[in-house]
Amino acid sequence: MKKIFYITLSVLILPTATHAACPDGKTYPVHFTFDDGPHLILTPRVLEILKEEKVPSTFFVLGKHFAGGKGNAANKPKYALLDRMKKEGHRIGSHTYEHINHPQFSAAKVKENIMKPNPLLKDYLSPVLRLPYGGGSFRSSNPTTQAKNNMVMKTVKDAGFTHVGWDIDTNDWDAKKRPTLLPTMLKDICRQKGGVVLFHDIQKFTVDNLRDWIRAVKREGHTFEPMEHFIPRAAEPLPPEACEEDSMKPVKALRKEVDDVLEMIKE
Ligand SMILES: [Zn+2]
Repeated sequence: MKKIFYITLSVLILPTATHAACPDGKTYPVHFTFDDGPHLILTPRVLEILKEEKVPSTFFVLGKHFAGGKGNAANKPKYALLDRMKKEGHRIGSHTYEHINHPQFSAAKVKENIMKPNPLLKDYLSPVLRLPYGGGSFRSSNPTTQAKNNMVMKTVKDAGFTHVGWDIDTNDWDAKKRPTLLPTMLKDICRQKGGVVLFHDIQKFTVDNLRDWIRAVKREGHTFEPMEHFIPRAAEPLPPEACEEDSMKPVKALRKEVDDVLEMIKE
């Protein structure tokens, strides 16, 4: 009796579980990414859900969360989270050190902020980086803005990283957009023909709803693919130039120059 019940149930559920929801009749590959963490309480919950739902994802972690590196005892649980991410099949990318909008800063500061997390995270990082706000990665019709963007993107590339933006922005940080987040994301997946989806693992709202969203995407028939499906380089180790010790020297030298000038002004 029980068996018949399950068979009937699966027949009823199956057609909706595999239907192609996009207007073109197709389903698409997607990849979830989580920025700004790790968060000691929320990120473990995200990891639990991703494990249970078998969804390989990428975490773009902020370098400043690891100030002092492994020598700082307070970082131990954060490094444990990175170990867990790796063990559970996720990729870890750099979100740079401080959460700044890079085109607004000098070339020296941009370089410093991009290079600074690398020695702290070298055992974990894939050669992928996402600039905070995507700042520097967009095209601009203003030549001055474009020149600044070019400088930022060249620094990312010279450091050995591939910049990874997003195809679908869920705006999960924006309370006004939250009521329509799921239908908007599903529509965007169809419109963009799948791709990289942006979330933040420091948002409780995101963590509270993540499982439902994953199941909704699966119900539409879309598939979750690892980062290397979209960025093949993500599977490679971090190149040595990302952690070159002398990469910081020009920045330090420049600082010294500035300090000397300030000293002179004082005198
Ligand atoms: Zn961010």
